[in-house]
Amino acid sequence: MATKKSNKEAFTAAEIKELKKHLMALKEDALARLKNTKNMDMPEAEVGDDIDNASKSLDKEILFELSSNAHKTIDQIEAALRKIDKGIYGTCEYCRQPISKKRMKALPFARYCVNCQHSNEGSGH
Ligand SMILES: [Zn+2]
Repeated sequence: MATKKSNKEAFTAAEIKELKKHLMALKEDALARLKNTKNMDMPEAEVGDDIDNASKSLDKEILFELSSNAHKTIDQIEAALRKIDKGIYGTCEYCRQPISKKRMKALPFARYCVNCQHSNEGSGH
């Protein structure tokens, strides 16, 4: 078994404030990206030759991928902000263990600790 470290890595108010700011900036960024893809995703003329349609649908797929990624990011950021409000920020949603500060700073909207993230990813090792 792993040695029990008693380092309760609670975030200080200042750190929370900083992370919140970071999360807000990330959200703005994702929203801007979403807006951009939406603007691009405006098929004006449905009628056209086949070649045009083919390339269009391919573009659409990429755009969908981009915007769904942005959506996902925004969801995660909003969840993180809600967790800050609830005072449970920085806790793994799966094993309820505190996530290391280092990880939370690198990935402010992380929902799982490294261990759970890895087991969720499945593949790889
Ligand atoms: Zn965990």
